[in-house]
Amino acid sequence: MREKIVAGNWKMNTNWPEAKELVSGILSQENRISCSLIIFPPYTYLQKISDLLSNSKVKVGAQNCSEHEKGAFTGEVSSSMLKSIGMSHCLIGHSERREYFNESDEQLLLKIKNCLNNNITPIFCCGEKLAERENNSHFEVIKNQVSKVLFQLNEDDFKKIIIAYEPVWAIGTGKTATAEQAQEIHHYIRTLIKEKYSEDISNQISILYGGSCKPSNAKELFAQADIDGGLIGGASLIANDFIQIAESF
Ligand code: PEP
Repeated sequence: MREKIVAGNWKMNTNWPEAKELVSGILSQENRISCSLIIFPPYTYLQKISDLLSNSKVKVGAQNCSEHEKGAFTGEVSSSMLKSIGMSHCLIGHSERREYFNESDEQLLLKIKNCLNNNITPIFCCGEKLAERENNSHFEVIKNQVSKVLFQLNEDDFKKIIIAYEPVWAIGTGKTATAEQAQEIHHYIRTLIKEKYSEDISNQISILYGGSCKPSNAKELFAQADIDGGLIGGASLIANDFIQIAESF
């Protein structure tokens, strides 16, 4: 059985009072949830939120980390720092990081390796842009993103990864991939994993869907054979919506 996960990417949203309120809204309802819940608040609140959640099963992760281990990299945060305050997961290669901060495949691979060295589980994001879907190159784009980064890992390391398929055209746009479109790509990613590693490994890896996932469409998406949960942006900022999505399996 693959791990079922609902993860909330808060991005650069919430001030501290809002963050606390959101956490308490999640905490008050978490007993209804059977899947894994992970939240990704901004760096500034990670330590405090981790403390607030010390008796909870909700895990906390970072939205990004440096590709460097330590040193003179002003403004950066390393994965060993994140581990030292109890972070369990880290998002790697979100499309906003690729697009606005020009993160390359080489950097993403280094980030993943640093996370793994520090026992942090990377959630690797991949997904095509609208023009790529429209010119039918989406399969090729996904294959490239996955092969150039994840498939550089040895089998033992690869098994520790979580993947999020996030079509860029569906992120924050209100446009969701249909359940069939999402399932098609999830199944494709699983086939690539099977070809590269093994069928056994391809059946172990959790693949999350992200892109305007909300309470009204989560059930249909999560019912697909190869969709193991969601990476949620906007709807993760409303505790009731986030919880309702997590109840959609
Ligand atoms: C995301 O940014 O990871 C995301 C899925 O955002 P949204 O749910 O707002 O589309």
